[in-house]
Amino acid sequence: MALGTASTRTDRARTVRDLLASGEQSYSFEFFAPKTAKGEHTLWNAIRRLEAVSPTFVSVTYGAGGSSREGTVRATERIATDTTLTPVAHLTAVNHSRAELRNIIGQYADAGIRNMLALRGDPPGDPMGEWVRHPEGLDFAIELVRLIKESGDFCVGVAAFPEMHPRSADWDTDVRHFVDKCRAGADFAITQMFFYPEDYLRLRDRVAAAGCTTPIIPEIMPVTNVRQIERFAKLSNAAFPPELAERILAVKDDAAAVRSIGIDYATELCARLMAEEIPGLHFITLNHSTATLEIYENLGLHQRSS
Ligand code: FAD
Repeated sequence: MALGTASTRTDRARTVRDLLASGEQSYSFEFFAPKTAKGEHTLWNAIRRLEAVSPTFVSVTYGAGGSSREGTVRATERIATDTTLTPVAHLTAVNHSRAELRNIIGQYADAGIRNMLALRGDPPGDPMGEWVRHPEGLDFAIELVRLIKESGDFCVGVAAFPEMHPRSADWDTDVRHFVDKCRAGADFAITQMFFYPEDYLRLRDRVAAAGCTTPIIPEIMPVTNVRQIERFAKLSNAAFPPELAERILAVKDDAAAVRSIGIDYATELCARLMAEEIPGLHFITLNHSTATLEIYENLGLHQRSS
């Protein structure tokens, strides 16, 4: 399909809500905004390679602060204007007034972006540090869901936590706050990364038992090197399977073997989830395409796009 045609514009302006309603499992990819020219090159290389498999949508994370935030807006706008992809822009309430948030939402609307992921965000520096609201800002993601919905015809996603949000006192409270975000207008959710399918399935059952039918898309993070074992657990609070860590550490000096174990594990996790009528899979790419494409191929998904 040629760039910039009317049909391209229609495709990318579609909402995740409508794409999920089609009933087909969705496949989507997450990128982050780079801070350097080299990083920009790496990102666009990955975007172009992943564009070829026609993902349902792609998303760009919102930085904790500083110039990476402008990078998020720029990268998302460029995906909207220069590719055939449907972009989802992440947005957080960290250090923003309501007026600033409205301004960013307006920029996205001007670029034809219809999908946003509304997040509270974490205190910069220490994710478990004290949350300090901007004096004219927001306290929780639910308020951002409302602000985005009031600002225009947007499709809004929210975060979900298969192992419970680390600040939630208990499961009942966690699920209640999640369901409140959905009732405030969220159209879909994407989970935090996790490594045991049961964690996702339990969360889905709890949410369903609370009468909420909002589609919850599992997020998949393939482990491709030893350093990630510790890093992921720290960043996401996700329980890292000790048996996987053991298998990886046993071959830690063989980068190809480490990668292969990580990709096989992620493939099995995806296959297990796909058998459970999930709405889709969202892959964290870390701005590289190879691992995601390998899993895609292992699952036979590349045939979908050909
Ligand atoms: P909230 O829904 O506001 O919840 C935060 C905590 O407050 C929870 O414990 C919740 O139970 C509790 N809570 C909610 N409402 C209330 C209430 N009314 N009263 C009392 N307690 C309440 N971070 C970034 O900085 N940039 C990103 O791009 C980004 N992308 C992400 C994408 C995904 C898919 C996920 C899962 C997370 C992402 N994050 C990102 C991290 C996210 O910002 C943090 O995990 C943050 O701690 C929680 O955000 P939330 O939107 O779930 O917050």
